[in-house]
Amino acid sequence: MKNAGAATGKADPRRQLASVSALLERPEIKRWIANLSQPLVLEAIQQTLAAYRRDLKPGDAAPTKTEILAGIESRLRRRELDRLRPVVNATGIILHTGLGRAVLPQRAVDALSGLNRCCNLQIDLDTGRRGNRNAMCVSLLKKLTGAEDGAIVNNNAAATLLFLSALAKDREVIISRGQLIEIGGSFRLPDCIRQSGAKMVEVGATNKTHLRDYEQALTDQTAILLRVNPSNYRIVGFTQDVPVAELAALKKNRPVLVVDDLGCGALIDLSRYGLPKEPTVQESLAAGADLVCFSGDKLIGGPQAGIILGKKELIEKIKKHPLSRMLRVDKLTALALEQTLRLFLEPETLLETNPTLRLLTLPVARLKERALKLKALLDAEKLPFDFRVAKGESATGGGSLPAVPIPTWVLSATSSQLTSDQLSRRLRLHEPPVIARIANDQVQFDMRTLMDGDETIVVEALKQVGRTNA
Ligand SMILES: *Cc1c(COP(=O)(O)O)cnc(C)c1O
Repeated sequence: MKNAGAATGKADPRRQLASVSALLERPEIKRWIANLSQPLVLEAIQQTLAAYRRDLKPGDAAPTKTEILAGIESRLRRRELDRLRPVVNATGIILHTGLGRAVLPQRAVDALSGLNRCCNLQIDLDTGRRGNRNAMCVSLLKKLTGAEDGAIVNNNAAATLLFLSALAKDREVIISRGQLIEIGGSFRLPDCIRQSGAKMVEVGATNKTHLRDYEQALTDQTAILLRVNPSNYRIVGFTQDVPVAELAALKKNRPVLVVDDLGCGALIDLSRYGLPKEPTVQESLAAGADLVCFSGDKLIGGPQAGIILGKKELIEKIKKHPLSRMLRVDKLTALALEQTLRLFLEPETLLETNPTLRLLTLPVARLKERALKLKALLDAEKLPFDFRVAKGESATGGGSLPAVPIPTWVLSATSSQLTSDQLSRRLRLHEPPVIARIANDQVQFDMRTLMDGDETIVVEALKQVGRTNA
């Protein structure tokens, strides 16, 4: 704002400011009110006018309505940063925890729109009596995996705490030193075991654990032989761990359980698509695990959830534990998970209908084509950026399929005006936000995690940033 200094006697521009009631008549304001609510927009109008009243000096030119509207819009935009909303994931991380992990299948999203009514969450439509929560999910999971029964909770960390609390409190849980994992900082398996009231008995060495290590640690206090899929890291080289089948054979006639924490919960064998072999839920159950647990929003590609499958009597014990009520899922999760699981009944179309599996298996040739097309679009816009196309690496993320870079193509943008940090920030502040990654001091867009139509948004965002910085 210009300061006209001692320009007394001139017209006071504050008197010429548009009034609140005049602004409320503007079509832009009406549209914002429809989208964002009257109180929010009114507050932005008042704050914008108050800032002008504070800063304008006699002799300054009064702001035009267009300038005032732009001020209001930018205030609203800043507020909007607090809103949970769709973003473009150009990071190449398919299950990005910061971006909500799995992209929900369209079928699940469509089903959620029916929740503007009541639903049969816990009522038996046949008898009219109280029914089983999650009955549909569990029956689908039984069909897909051959499990006897199942329980659904908030996430896999909750599943672990729950089965340990219900089945191993005050008793011993034997676990290999190579499997004492930490997931995302706040979840560490040793803490979880302690919290459940079970006693952790570590066996083996970091890189190698043998069957005899478990055997020697077995006592009449042993409740569980716990195997954990080290899903977010790999021990390579001189290694050995004991498969579920051997643990099952070892416990044979003892009152001891074998539990397999599978983590990412593959329901199909991904090696079919050239991806690394992850143990599937079906294989683990068939190998003799009494229980398995895994997440709903990793390789299943559904909502955040923790799934426990296995022996009926154990699931019943788990469901009766008080924590079960505290960790249960709501109808949004139950419905989205059910619809996601239904997709697995039709394996022929699964890669089209399940975004997580689709992105994971997109052929690299398609991604190259996509990158070249996007570069052509951007070059035609004559923007103040330098665009290049190159090979790159995507990641599964979310603690799944670690150490397995997935080949991809990226489009990179560099600018002589902006650092990569500045450029990526401006892209994040675009509506809708575009989340790119920074590598080699370039802003990179990974073609693997773009959804259909995202190219248009990327072009628009770069045009807008380019215009303000040309
Ligand atoms: C991811 C993971 C967890 C945590 O699962 P959430 O659903 O994120 O709570 C626990 N154990 C293993 C082996 C995992 O891979």
